[in-house]
Amino acid sequence: MLRKSYLSKLMFLLPALAGLYFQSNAQTAKTPATLQRPKLVVGLVIDQMRWDYLYRYYDRYQSGGFKRLLNEGFSCNQVYITHLPAETAVGHSTLYTGSVPAIHGITGNNWKDEVTGKNWYCTDDSLEQTVGSNSRAGRMSPRNLLASTITDELALATNFRSRIVGVSLKDRASILPAGHKPTAVFWLDNESENFISSTYYMKALPQWLQNFNRQQHGRKMISKGWNTLYPLNTYLQSSPDNVAWEETFAGESKPTFPHDINTYYQSNPDIIRKTPYGNTLTLELSKAAIEGYNLGAGAATDFLAINCASTDYVGHMYGPNSVEVEDTYLRLDKDLADFFTYLDKKIGRGNYSLFLTADHGGAHNISFLQSHHLAGDFLKTKNILTNLNAHLERSFKLHTMVTGSSSTFLSFNVAAIKKAGLNYNEVKEEAMDFLRKQPGIQFTADMQNLHKTSIPKDIMEKLVNAYNSKRCGDVAIVPEPGWFNGREKGTGHSLWNPFDTHIPMVFMGWGIKKGHSEKAHSMNDLAPTLAALLKIQVPNGSVGRVMEEVLVH
Ligand SMILES: [Zn+2]
Repeated sequence: MLRKSYLSKLMFLLPALAGLYFQSNAQTAKTPATLQRPKLVVGLVIDQMRWDYLYRYYDRYQSGGFKRLLNEGFSCNQVYITHLPAETAVGHSTLYTGSVPAIHGITGNNWKDEVTGKNWYCTDDSLEQTVGSNSRAGRMSPRNLLASTITDELALATNFRSRIVGVSLKDRASILPAGHKPTAVFWLDNESENFISSTYYMKALPQWLQNFNRQQHGRKMISKGWNTLYPLNTYLQSSPDNVAWEETFAGESKPTFPHDINTYYQSNPDIIRKTPYGNTLTLELSKAAIEGYNLGAGAATDFLAINCASTDYVGHMYGPNSVEVEDTYLRLDKDLADFFTYLDKKIGRGNYSLFLTADHGGAHNISFLQSHHLAGDFLKTKNILTNLNAHLERSFKLHTMVTGSSSTFLSFNVAAIKKAGLNYNEVKEEAMDFLRKQPGIQFTADMQNLHKTSIPKDIMEKLVNAYNSKRCGDVAIVPEPGWFNGREKGTGHSLWNPFDTHIPMVFMGWGIKKGHSEKAHSMNDLAPTLAALLKIQVPNGSVGRVMEEVLVH
């Protein structure tokens, strides 16, 4: 009986099993496995956006912008910059190469070549000419970037069928992310008030951009003036509007709303950068580029690298605790909501992958910190270097041995030191001994003799990642927390501290899980994560690791 019932059950199951078998074979035959990729990758780097801004203004954001990213996407909440300095050119290069300045070579927005003595702006290129203006603002290229970018690797992976476009108000923030062989890169020219390019990329601006420029979108936006989006007394996250440590526009008597930007613009059109409209303009240009190049509609995955730079310019003028910064983020939130809706319609919800991150954060203004009894003061680097040179001259009978400094490294006149028969190591020792006695300087390091240095390992890692011997001086200085070579009004960024190095990293769309993680990651983990998402080669200087919790597969 038992056997019979077992058999009858088996007889009943067999056809079903056979059916399943044939069905799955038929499916395989009909739809052979294909490589799945998104139609478009959108990179959004919000200049000077600290990680805490995601939550500082959370209650004031609307549903479709930052809140949509956090609720629909995946937020890595513990992503830090692991190099120095925390600056725009360096941050963008690191994000897109997965590398560090020691390897990708972009050691600052500016640097001195330690071999030739030439001073460089990161994307300067005298071999190239401006396209779209008579100014010199287009004599640029990515030639100083020594490593490949994730955008380069996408181009290589699809045999250059992917269309890759970079846009920003800033040359460095559009050029470096787009890599060495993009379709196009555009940035804003102050002289013509137009978006321009370089002969490195093209001979003439495309027709769609000429049309876009002709419409003078920026001028129209500025004519609306800049008042707060909501009543001033609702800006509870900010200091009073009128404080002594905020900058003013040229011609403005005090740093308060409403800012009469329409008047100041007439003699100084570059002030659009220092208003929230600079971000609106950049996202309008991004839409025009999607239309102009039909991004997301080709056979291969396309990539649009966007930098919203006005958050940085406004941050520099007013500092993180200002009504102006709060208002700029509330307006950016609205612009992002509009942009995401546009992408949903144009590319299709779920057809594009998007990430939002930052190139660096920003410090509080020093006078603001002091007014609230927080530690910190102005590091007078210029005076310190003058006194250091005088001290070294007394000790070694040679003048101007220190020739200059970046925010991190001091450069020495090594040729003169050696010609005078002096021991370079002894000179550096003497210099560091002097520097460590100056108020506000906490650590020094001789980058060629690190074993002699005692510095906490996280800071040491950032110094090692920063130091490219051809483009950096040999002695590093690290100030106490709260001390920096700051402006009296507004603020800056460049240091190792979390206010400058803790950045947002939020993903959304195709291939991305929903959720968040508190796992520690480095800024240079972005590029290998995108490489894993797209199933393409990792950039050639990458030292990052995949943020695997973000990815569906
Ligand atoms: Zn900046």
